[in-house]
Amino acid sequence: MNIFLTYDYELYFGNQTGTAEKCILNPTDKLKEIASKTGIKMVFFIDTGYLKKLQEFSQKYESVKTEYNKVVNQIKTLVKEGHDCQLHIHPHWEDCKHDGSKWIMKTSRYKLSDFSDDEIEKIVLEYQKILQDITQKNVNIYRAGGWCIQPFSRLKKSFEKAGLVLDSSVFPGGKNTDGNYHYDFTGTPDKSTWKFSSDICKEDPNGNFKEIPISSHFYSPLFFWKLFLKGRIKPQLHKPVGDGYPMPSPGMRKKMLTKGMLLSASADGYFVTKLESVLKQNQLKGFTEMVVLGHPKANTPYALNELESFIMNNKNKHRFLTFSDLLNNA
Ligand SMILES: [Zn+2]
Repeated sequence: MNIFLTYDYELYFGNQTGTAEKCILNPTDKLKEIASKTGIKMVFFIDTGYLKKLQEFSQKYESVKTEYNKVVNQIKTLVKEGHDCQLHIHPHWEDCKHDGSKWIMKTSRYKLSDFSDDEIEKIVLEYQKILQDITQKNVNIYRAGGWCIQPFSRLKKSFEKAGLVLDSSVFPGGKNTDGNYHYDFTGTPDKSTWKFSSDICKEDPNGNFKEIPISSHFYSPLFFWKLFLKGRIKPQLHKPVGDGYPMPSPGMRKKMLTKGMLLSASADGYFVTKLESVLKQNQLKGFTEMVVLGHPKANTPYALNELESFIMNNKNKHRFLTFSDLLNNA
């Protein structure tokens, strides 16, 4: 199995975004330590709208400039150490401002499809250039913010112009059409990779784009009860390190605790305990790829320990790769 540990490198998008230190810089340093200790490489999907706004407000506020320099330095170090830093777009940054002490978030235009065709193209090309200028590497791999990559037909032209060839936004079976989100991955091929052209959920052997979906897993109500209780009983081990809040998702908690939910395979917090099950499940299906989604901000001390064990237990049996490794050796 090729295992890809992928992290969305970003702040929170609720009323309090949290700080770069706690949501991004410190937890990414921890992940970097684990990677170098275990000798593996990771993929970081860099929220480039955030970089754009850091650049913009650096002109105005010294504190933003300091934050920008720290973030850019960390990204450069990640690249130097062999990690893959690729494009993650949360286009709502277009509507966000800094007031000198905090970000003022506006998430009404949360997905690229909320923008016009011209705006989509401008955003994709501009963000790609910002990231490439920092990494000095080819940026040709994509993950949509909040899984919102549909309808892909609206993004196709921009992908072609930017030379984006690989996507990892889909998690098969997932669906959420509430609030700011809109995705429906209920009709994907039952595979761990496929080619596509206009519809990301439909295999097209002649398509120019490759999907390597995030692995999915059904989490039972019992799992969520344990997750919430552990956070209460032992917050020092199970509370996320990030100091912000996510966008509210009404009804989600109730659904989790009563019905369970199909979500991405994840290295965040208590979700990390299911990685071995996801691996077994993917092996049973004959899959050749397993993609794990994580966020530096959602790490817990417990999760970091468990992640290290998962890597140590599996690094001689499987290959921990980056997407660029895969493309360059294909
Ligand atoms: Zn994101």
